[in-house]
Amino acid sequence: MLRPIGSARSGPMPNAPFSDFKMSQRIQRNPTRSVRIGRIHVGHQFPIAVQSMCATHTQNIDATVAQIQELEKAGADVVRIAVDSDKDAEALEAIRAQTKANLSVDLQENYRLALKVAPFVDKIRYNPGHLYHHERTKPWQEKVRFLAEVAKEHDCAIRIGVNCGSLDPAKKSKFDPADSISPMIESATDHCAFLDSIGFERYVVSLKDSDPSKVVEINQRFSATRPDVPLHLGVTEAGLPPDGIIKTRIAFEQLIGRGIGDTIRVSLTVPNPKKSMEIEAGRQIIDDIQNGRLRSVVALDPMALNIISCPSCSRVENEAFVELAQQVKEMTQYAKDQAITIAVMGCRVNGPGETDDADLGLWCGPAKVNLKKGGESLGAFAYDEILPRLRHELDLLIAQKAKSM
Ligand code: SF4
Repeated sequence: MLRPIGSARSGPMPNAPFSDFKMSQRIQRNPTRSVRIGRIHVGHQFPIAVQSMCATHTQNIDATVAQIQELEKAGADVVRIAVDSDKDAEALEAIRAQTKANLSVDLQENYRLALKVAPFVDKIRYNPGHLYHHERTKPWQEKVRFLAEVAKEHDCAIRIGVNCGSLDPAKKSKFDPADSISPMIESATDHCAFLDSIGFERYVVSLKDSDPSKVVEINQRFSATRPDVPLHLGVTEAGLPPDGIIKTRIAFEQLIGRGIGDTIRVSLTVPNPKKSMEIEAGRQIIDDIQNGRLRSVVALDPMALNIISCPSCSRVENEAFVELAQQVKEMTQYAKDQAITIAVMGCRVNGPGETDDADLGLWCGPAKVNLKKGGESLGAFAYDEILPRLRHELDLLIAQKAKSM
């Protein structure tokens, strides 16, 4: 059936089913099932929902509530919050008391925290690649069963969030190291099959990478296998605007234009007061696709410098991170024609893993910035020392490349 894509606020009421309004442009959406997240639904019968994530410290209740309200005002259908500790979970209860927003929570290694957070949220996101860190001898199926039971009891949806930077090690070892896509797809399909087998169908899947062309391939391949599963689209660590928006647009045009994608997030490295830019950019991209205002869809130039940076979240321990990402972009302009990738990540939770594939990677701690060359650590440097050191390493890399040509 042909369905307009819309965006969740395009209908006569938030997230109204499509039968309630008409759109000029129609795209044949994949026949994904409907999944309720609080007061909205995602799935092919509903407009594409737009999400963002709080970057405030979760325990700073006032700041987090204020950011949720800002994001809602900008049109967020779902707002995600990171929860890493019991204290974060306690803060969540106070946050929930002050907002009716559809809340999603991002669980990291400690999957058991779901028990504490589920009463206060509408969706739980888990990452199959993180389930291995706790209770290592326990099969992942038991952990997922636990999450599904908690979700069911507290009326939550689930997102199976597979990320290129934190792959399930068991899946990774089955495939050629150069192939990052197949383990992601197998991980997602196995988790879907398991949730189906225990009768839990209220889930969506995300398959994210920082490379838009990979995001397109992964999501196309997954949706060919499981066209019924709603997809949450995103280019992870897309970086600073405008480049981050362009990278995301490249992927979304190709996917949404082919009927793939039920909810989206545009991940941007922006300071906290500008976080609503993620929602505005997401809605603009959807509206442009809906109205045929497409850019010529080009792959990112493989012969140009690629700066990736994470959108920041409550795990950032030093707010100088956003400024550093901007300074890295400016300082490296002299190398703009080099086929080199530099990653700038905001925290120690995901930073170490997610910089592995970059030629040069930076991940930020409270007082120091850790510098890496591929998977190798080059040490930790003060915030005011890191740029000259990065420049030195970049010069070495350019010289090495020139020599090998
Ligand atoms: S890298 Fe860390 S700070 Fe950045 S978005 Fe991911 S978890 Fe948050």
